[in-house]
Amino acid sequence: MSFIDETQTQIEIKSEEKLQMHKDDKVYLREIFDKAKELKGIDYQDVLTLLQLKDSESITELYRTAREIKDKIYGKRVVLFAPLYVSNICSNECLYCGFRSSNHLLQRRMLSQEEIKRETKQLINDGHKRVLLVAGEDCSARALDYMMESISSVYSLHLEKGNIRRINVNMAPLSVEGFKKLSECKIGTYQIFQETYHRETYKRLHLKGQKSDYDYRLHAMDRAMEAGIEDVGIGVLFGLYDYKFEVLALLKHIKHLEKSFGVGPHTISVPRIEPALGSEVSYNPPYPVDDESFKKIIAILRLAVPYTGLILSTREGEEMRRNALELGISQISAGSKTGPGGYSGASEVSGVIGDIKSDNSLQEQFSLGDHRPMVEVIKDIVNDGYIPSFCTGCYRMGRIGHDFMDLAKPGLIHKHCTPNALLTFKEYLEDFADSDLKIKGEQMIDKIVANEFAGESITFVSKLKTKLLSTANGERDLYY
Ligand code: SAM
Ligand code: SF4
Repeated sequence: MSFIDETQTQIEIKSEEKLQMHKDDKVYLREIFDKAKELKGIDYQDVLTLLQLKDSESITELYRTAREIKDKIYGKRVVLFAPLYVSNICSNECLYCGFRSSNHLLQRRMLSQEEIKRETKQLINDGHKRVLLVAGEDCSARALDYMMESISSVYSLHLEKGNIRRINVNMAPLSVEGFKKLSECKIGTYQIFQETYHRETYKRLHLKGQKSDYDYRLHAMDRAMEAGIEDVGIGVLFGLYDYKFEVLALLKHIKHLEKSFGVGPHTISVPRIEPALGSEVSYNPPYPVDDESFKKIIAILRLAVPYTGLILSTREGEEMRRNALELGISQISAGSKTGPGGYSGASEVSGVIGDIKSDNSLQEQFSLGDHRPMVEVIKDIVNDGYIPSFCTGCYRMGRIGHDFMDLAKPGLIHKHCTPNALLTFKEYLEDFADSDLKIKGEQMIDKIVANEFAGESITFVSKLKTKLLSTANGERDLYY
């Protein structure tokens, strides 16, 4: 049984549009914004109302509220990660994707474990600590074993400059048994997007393979959580259907997981469709989402689920990434390549151009909006006043699922996440930064330690200072 009642959602959107309900009712809007500032989320009906906002005054107020919430919960931290594409072999036929099985313009590649280690080495040497392992949906029997081997290859590499400490996974949904096996590999978040919650659109865009089964995909997170994976990440590929419907459906998915498992998703991703080689749909998405609507989506989600991580990838360009960080995004990818072998050049094939915006010859899934290398992204976000965080503390301390939300909701996260962000940023400065970034970064850390922990005990602050000093003296991987 589906928890997405489409007809009902369509009726709700239509009647809200027709009535323009509460649109001009400033008192009602104020009540929603005030409720949101209590950091307990807002109701479905409130989201329905906010999705209709059109006047600039109300939208400005929405953005102001989103910024305030973002700041209260996340401060200036931004978690950084890189996707690691291990295979572009795919049995499915998603019309928007460059990896779809009938796309003969793309050279297929499944990296060997040695190649995966080479990619990992490059990511570690760029300063990464968190990786999102990505693969096309190879539905053969070997697929899960291959991913499990790949996970252990990535974790196995310990170099002078560090190691990957958390692997999140974006791969084909599994059975409960399959998810049980996957969870034994010590993954962080299992992530998969419904792409569109609109059944008819889903059917039209997913022509073949396991992914053409809407319900099997819709219930993937139920199976993952039943199998013991506590951190799951959901998402929508914006551009495939009406974004208002998709945001409301995301909320229904969240409510369903909360009701069934006592905890909602750990993260929500908000990819927007980008041009992909050989995909007509990706060039002309049926419901393109303009920049203003996209910012509204991010801000509304921040109000609705204040403690859920919001992820933005390098599909977006620099300016949107900057705006989105202010409005609620808490994690971004950086220096990304979206084809297998992209970091170490392990799979360069002359004459095959996957990334249509660049002139390299890798097999990328879609074109990127942000091509800056990791170090440039870090410099820019530091200049904008953000602390780059590579923290993996919660996952390694077992603060996942319910425990994470129990910790997060009363705001205690501040006592763990900000110190951990500072410690991991300090490591980055010591191991990877040039002198200019090092000076700026140290100044930022000193300022935050002096100002942000004013209310904490002297012992807490002096312990943090000691850990920072130990990091400067060569100790690594200190966290709370
Ligand atoms: N094969 C798995 C799947 O489909 O879930 C995981 C990997 S797939 C490469 C990861 C995500 O890429 C998909 O969930 C989809 O949202 C996104 N994607 C596919 N084509 C895209 C495009 N043209 N632009 C932006 N994102 C795209
Ligand atoms: Fe394959 Fe995933 Fe691309 Fe669909 S989105 S074609 S399943 S890689």
